[in-house]
Amino acid sequence: MATLKIGKTEKKLLDASLTALKNAYVLWGFKVGAAVVAEDEQVYEGCNVESWVSGLGTCAERCAVNHAVLHGNRRINELAVVMDACSNSEPRPCGTCLQYISDFSESPQINIVMAKAEKGKILTKTVNVKKLAELFPFPYKK
Ligand SMILES: [Zn+2]
Repeated sequence: MATLKIGKTEKKLLDASLTALKNAYVLWGFKVGAAVVAEDEQVYEGCNVESWVSGLGTCAERCAVNHAVLHGNRRINELAVVMDACSNSEPRPCGTCLQYISDFSESPQINIVMAKAEKGKILTKTVNVKKLAELFPFPYKK
């Protein structure tokens, strides 16, 4: 995975995601934190919240988007997601979240910042930035 140069916003979002990850409610999965910059230019965090009923919980990314919506936002300009390095999965939003992010994104060109974390720190080598359109070229739209 290529390490790309990240700016101030990306750093801020990764830090916020890392903080949110600590509050993740995990029963059988792994901890994930996310953060978005919304149209009001504020950062809103989210963490995954699981349930014993598979599929009933929510991912960190959707939690962060909902957090932004709760504060009156309808668009997001960037998103970061950080997952615990104990997972073998690549750090990236799942298909459901990609659709949800797409529903609320300012444009298909918003940055999605992805990384793993271990012992309370972002693993720099795992940091990756892609455009939403690269990860999710064909969103569903009515
Ligand atoms: Zn997801």
